[in-house]
Amino acid sequence: MRFATYRLASRHGLAVADKAGTYRGLLTEHASYPGTLESLVAKGEVALRAAAETLVRTGEAVDLGVVKLEQPLAAHGKIICVGLNYADHASEASMKAPDYPTLFARFPSSLIAHDEPIVRPRVSDKLDYEGELVAVIGKRGRYIPRTAALSHVCGYSIFNDGSIRDFQLRTPQWTVGKNFDNTGPFGPVFVSADELPPGAHGLKIETRLNGRVMQSATTADLIFDVATLVALISEAMTLEPGDLIITGTPAGVGAARKPPVFMKAGDICEVEIEGIGILRNPIADEAAATADAA
Ligand code: MG
Repeated sequence: MRFATYRLASRHGLAVADKAGTYRGLLTEHASYPGTLESLVAKGEVALRAAAETLVRTGEAVDLGVVKLEQPLAAHGKIICVGLNYADHASEASMKAPDYPTLFARFPSSLIAHDEPIVRPRVSDKLDYEGELVAVIGKRGRYIPRTAALSHVCGYSIFNDGSIRDFQLRTPQWTVGKNFDNTGPFGPVFVSADELPPGAHGLKIETRLNGRVMQSATTADLIFDVATLVALISEAMTLEPGDLIITGTPAGVGAARKPPVFMKAGDICEVEIEGIGILRNPIADEAAATADAA
């Protein structure tokens, strides 16, 4: 199942791809609207399947190129990111490949949808991209054994872990550099786990900036794979439906290039993962008007 959350004329909708690949969706006010994707994920696989059937049966054809895509599901829970999870990236960052995953958090306020601008803040010109696979938790658990871990993952999506490098490296804690407003694209769609190889293993992942390939790797190169991450993270905290695990980026980030490449207004950044889709975002400078938005 491939779900897309969208907005049409300021109304929200949920769509699913039918067998022919056409998305069929319903807006929230429709009597058969099955609920938000996050609510369906929380209810479990039976609810997801029932919603998909309803949407295919009663939904209108939705052109994802015409509607405004939203984040596939609203991140109400944990957003756990993994740093240095590809050996080649750890090496280009002059950091040792870790024995335990480098975990950090993003907050929902930094996330944006497909096609929304990644905003370069006025305080930095070191805006960098990081193409990443996202695993979405579908079942609650603590101390989940690695052998059962993938049964807790309901699906996958794509993330661009947009980073403000100078802020990220001001301190050993990466939180600030990873949480600027409007720097974390998430989408374009949610793909249920059964549509992909177990653990989304062995998928090609590529990041392009203005069409130029900047990162090209496979998820087979993850140091800590999805099952291992679920097992290790759940030793510390209960994983809940809707929690996101953002699994890390391969080599080729802009900061490690010689000379460095940073994103600027007018650029287009795309992250593509085989079998999931293409997450595409333009880059824009922070508007002066946002300064006093508080
Ligand atoms: Mg990252």
